[in-house]
Amino acid sequence: MRTQVVIVGSGPAGLLLGQLLEKAGIATILLEQKSKDYVLGRIRAGVLEQGAVALLDEAGAGARLHREGLVHEGTEIAFSGVRHRIDFKALTGKTVTVYGQTEATRDLMDARAALGAPSIYEALDVSLHDLESERPRVRYAKDGKNFEIACDHVAGCDGFHGVSRRSIPEERLRTYERVYPFGWLGILVDKPPVSEELIYVNHARGFALCSMRSMTRSRYYLQCRLDEHVEDWPDDKFWEELARRLDPEAAKNLQTGASIEKSIAPLRSFVAEPMRYGNLFLAGDAAHIVPPTGAKGLNLAASDIAYLSAALIERYKKGSSAGLEAYPQKALARIWKAERFSWWMTQMLHRFPESSGFDQKMQGAELDYLFSSKAAQTALAENYVGLPY
Ligand SMILES: Cc1cc2nc3c(=O)[nH]c(=O)nc-3n(C[C@H](O)[C@H](O)[C@H](O)COP(=O)(O)OP(=O)(O)OC[C@H]3O[C@@H](n4cnc5c(N)ncnc54)[C@H](O)[C@@H]3O)c2cc1C
Repeated sequence: MRTQVVIVGSGPAGLLLGQLLEKAGIATILLEQKSKDYVLGRIRAGVLEQGAVALLDEAGAGARLHREGLVHEGTEIAFSGVRHRIDFKALTGKTVTVYGQTEATRDLMDARAALGAPSIYEALDVSLHDLESERPRVRYAKDGKNFEIACDHVAGCDGFHGVSRRSIPEERLRTYERVYPFGWLGILVDKPPVSEELIYVNHARGFALCSMRSMTRSRYYLQCRLDEHVEDWPDDKFWEELARRLDPEAAKNLQTGASIEKSIAPLRSFVAEPMRYGNLFLAGDAAHIVPPTGAKGLNLAASDIAYLSAALIERYKKGSSAGLEAYPQKALARIWKAERFSWWMTQMLHRFPESSGFDQKMQGAELDYLFSSKAAQTALAENYVGLPY
C-alpha cells in the first residue's frame, strides 16, 4: 500500500489530524491497535478549550458538540469548606466547553467514515521503518496477515504507551518526568452534577473534583493512594468519602447512584523532546503527559495537531518544509506552559504525603492569594481557557 501520511493511533490527536489532512486533499491511512468499540469505551477527558472546539469545527466534527456541549463561564475552587468562583468569561472573555472525549472521538470517527478515508482497527504489531529516509514504511499485522505501507510522513499519535516514541533511538530523545505520589479514583454516574460548574476541592483528606459530562451524567474524582485498587472502593465508600470532602451545600446536592465506570489513573508530568525524528512526528500523549488537574491533556493533543496539520498542508500545497522544521519548537513552547500550569494546579490542590508544615502553609497562602487577587485569578483563567495558538 502507499499513502502520503500514515497516522498511528485513533485517539483525538490521530483522528483530528486525519480529518484536517483529508479535508485538505492529503491522503492518510489510520492504524489503530484496538477495536473501534474499545476506543469508544474509554472514559477520559471532558473539558475543551475554545481552540479545540474551533479545530473540531474545522474538521467538520463540531455540530453535535455545539448542540450537546455545556459552555462553562467559570469554575469553583473550595478550600477550608468555602467555595470561590473563578469567572473565566469576565477575566478573559473566553469560556470552556464540557463535552466528553468519548463523544468527540465518536464524532471524529463518523466524520472520517463520511469522507471514506481508510481506518484500520485491530492493526497489531505496528512497526516503523526507514524513518530518516524520504520513504518511511509502516508494517502491521491484521487477521493473521502482514502488511506494509510506504509513505512520506508518519504521525505518531499513539499515546504514552505507543510504538512511535519507542521507535526513536534513545540517544536522539530527551525525556523529562515527574511522577506524583497519588492517583485519581474516578467514577461516572448517571445522575445530575452537584453544581452547574466544576468544583475543585482542596481538603485535609485529599483532593476531590466534581465534574460532569452532561446535565444528567456526572464524573467525580477523589485523590487516592497509588497502592489502592478499584476493588477497595465500592460505590458506597466512594460516595461517603466524597461527601466528607465537599462543602455542606455541595454535599447536600450530591446525588449518588450505581457507578457506570470506575477507574484509577496515576498522575504524571512527562515531555519527550524533540517531537520529530526524520519523517516521524509525535503529537499528543505520545510526546507528553500532564496530570489531569488543569484539564489540558486532550487540549494539548489538539494544539499539537493545529501546528502539525498546518505544517503538513504547507509541505504538500506549497512544497515548503519550513513548518515541519519549526513544528517541535512551536509545539513545545506551548506544551511546556501547559505542563507548568498542570503541575501548579496539582501542587496547589492536592495533599502531598511528604509535605511539611511549611509546605502546607505555602499552599494555604497560595490559595488565599488566588482568592483575593484579580491578577492571580486572571493568570489561572487565561491558562485554564487555553493559551493562544
Ligand atoms: C485514564 C485517563 C483519564 C484521563 N482523564 C483526563 C481528564 O480528565 N482530563 C484531561 O484533560 N485529560 C485526561 N486524560 C488525558 C487525555 O485523555 C489524553 O491527553 C488524550 O487522550 C490524548 O489524546 P491522544 O490522541 O494523544 O492519545 P490517546 O487518546 O491515548 O490515543 C492513542 C491511540 O493510539 C492507540 N495505540 C497505542 N499504541 C498503538 C500501537 N502500537 N499501534 C497502533 N495504535 C496504538 C491507542 O489504542 C489509542 O487509541 C486522561 C487519560 C487517561 C489515560
